Amino acid sequence: MRKLSKLLTLSLILTSNCSNAITASSFDESNPISGPINYYGGPVITNPTKVNFVWYGNWNNVSAQSTIANLEYLVNNIDSTNWWKIVSDYYQTINQQTVHATSQISFGQSYYINYSFGKSLYDSDVISILQKLSLNKEDIYLVFISQDINESGSRGQYCVDYCGWHESWNINNQNIKFALVGQSDCDICSLQLRYQELGFNYPPSGTWDSLNMTQVLLHELAEIITDPVGTKPAWQDLNHQELSDKCLWTYGDTLYNSDNGSVGNILVGNKVFMTQQLWSKNTNSCSMFLN
Ligand SMILES: [Zn+2]
Repeated sequence: MRKLSKLLTLSLILTSNCSNAITASSFDESNPISGPINYYGGPVITNPTKVNFVWYGNWNNVSAQSTIANLEYLVNNIDSTNWWKIVSDYYQTINQQTVHATSQISFGQSYYINYSFGKSLYDSDVISILQKLSLNKEDIYLVFISQDINESGSRGQYCVDYCGWHESWNINNQNIKFALVGQSDCDICSLQLRYQELGFNYPPSGTWDSLNMTQVLLHELAEIITDPVGTKPAWQDLNHQELSDKCLWTYGDTLYNSDNGSVGNILVGNKVFMTQQLWSKNTNSCSMFLN
C-alpha cells in the first residue's frame, strides 16, 4: 500500500507538471532508428572543451544578436543537464584505458567573418573560413551560415539533404573538429513551423532562429564529442548512424512551460529549450536523460 501511494503521489506530481504539456507524438516527426550503437575503437573527446562560434554572413542585426546570446547561454549551461549525461556516458578505450566523454563544455568566443568567400559555399570554403582564425585543436568550432548563404558539398546541399554536418580536418597543421549549422528557416530544418502548426506563437526562449538552430547545434555537438574523427570511428550503429542520427526529429515529452506560454523538453540553466533526443546506449532507446 505504501508503495502504491508513493507511486500515486509521483504520478500526480508528474501530471500537474505536465498540465500544459504536449505529448511526444505531437512534435516527433520521425521514429528512432533501432539497433544497438557499437564502439569501434576511436577516440571520444575527454577533456573539458570550449565551443567557439563562427558567424558567417549577416549576423549584425538586433534579432541576430538576441539569437547569438541565447545560443551562447545554451552552450555555457548544457553540461549541467541530464541530457548531457547521455553524452558523457559514452567512452573511449585506448591502450586498455577507459575514459568517459567530457562532462565539461563551455562557450569560448564568437568570431564574425562577414562574406569573405561569397554567398555560395562549398565544403572547402568552410575550411577556408576556419583557416582565417587562430585555431586551438583542443576547441570545437561551429560555423553558422546566415539565411542568404547556400552551402553544398560531398553530402549534398544544405536545406535539401541536411541541416548541418560535422567533420574533423587537418587545418593549419592541427586536427580541428568543427560543424556547420544553418540559420535553418527552410522547411526541412525549421522547428518554428511545427510550433506554429501546433498553435504556439513564441519559441520557449530566445528567437525562432535560436529554436531552429538549437537542435542542429546540439545534434552536431553531441556527435563531435562521441564520434569526433571520421577516419577513426568511435560510436556508430551498423549503418554509421551516430547517437543523434538515431533520434533525429524525435523530442519526447515537452515537460517544461516557459513564461510566454510556449513549451520545451529541456531546462538549461533557467531557460527552456527544445532539442532532439539522444540514443542512450544503456536502454537502447532515444531519451532526454541518462537512465
Ligand atoms: Zn548527425
